[in-house]
Amino acid sequence: MSLKLDGKKLSLDIEEKLENYISINKLIAKRSPGLALIRIGEDPASGVYVKNKEKACSRVGIKSFIFHLEDTVSQKEVEKLIEKLNLDKNIDGMLLQLPIPKKLDEQSLISNINPEKDVDGLNEQNIGKLVKNEPAMRSCTPAGIVNLLRSHSIPIEGMKIVVIGRSLLVGKPLSLMLLNLNGTVTMTHSKTKNLNKLCREADILIAAAGKPNLIDSSFVKDGAVIIDVGIHRLKSSDKNKTRLCGDVLLEDVIPKVSAYTPVPGGVGPMTVTMLLVNTIFSWQKQFSLSSTLNDLLP
Ligand code: NAP
Repeated sequence: MSLKLDGKKLSLDIEEKLENYISINKLIAKRSPGLALIRIGEDPASGVYVKNKEKACSRVGIKSFIFHLEDTVSQKEVEKLIEKLNLDKNIDGMLLQLPIPKKLDEQSLISNINPEKDVDGLNEQNIGKLVKNEPAMRSCTPAGIVNLLRSHSIPIEGMKIVVIGRSLLVGKPLSLMLLNLNGTVTMTHSKTKNLNKLCREADILIAAAGKPNLIDSSFVKDGAVIIDVGIHRLKSSDKNKTRLCGDVLLEDVIPKVSAYTPVPGGVGPMTVTMLLVNTIFSWQKQFSLSSTLNDLLP
């Protein structure tokens, strides 16, 4: 019988800890942690993600500040807003909801975010510290995956881990985090030869290719752990309905693995929770608060 790594449940457990931590430490800090969410344009998925983040903030007691800019906004105007938020003493974390309109230079905007407030962990300074295995803001989806593995006592050290995908958002930082935790990591991508054979050697296989149902049971070793990062909305057989799926053909893979993440309810909820965690870490640092949440740091 394979174990379901329930990200929804873990995220609720962590949120409870975060809520307690904030209510106790607010007395010392004399204000709640603050998170600024910058959204540009009308991408509907971004609207849903920002709303979910806003709701998650209110569940634990983080004050959220939403800045919804029109897609006609200039690079300079967004830079100005980021600069203002960098200096704002009530803001501990800031994120730019991606994607943003193509005419804007995404990486340059992220570089402008104060690394101490870069709760998405995408600023060069934070990525550099990850490479050096020094403490810093870690990107949320990879950090959530590490917490999911740890909380189920799945060992990382010495394990053969194959990561499918090398994006700056998921594959690269995740591979580095697992390497820092002494996993033996192989990072793969669309040009990798013999992907199937490489995957079959993995004790832990992580699919972050963004391709629905790419991974079936032929990619998986008996007893492996499989983590599905992909999230896709597909039309279901009933034309008026849609359903979510990941990069893994779960019904085919589950009988073969020792543990797996469902989609939805696996990696996704952990991503939002780690955003809350990062915001609270920044707040904790600013007010030298107790570090009882440090075991959540990857
Ligand atoms: P991305 O930027 O499109 O990167 C995809 C990566 O997968 C690339 O490195 C690409 O290789 C590689 N790839 C694509 N097809 C492949 C194939 N057939 N075989 C091997 N490698 C392949 O996507 P991303 O931002 O990393 O996101 C990946 C998936 O995770 C998406 O479905 C996204 O929606 C999901 N996601 C979920 C969460 C969550 O919270 N659940 C968070 C972030 C992302 P090349 O580099 O060679 O092009």
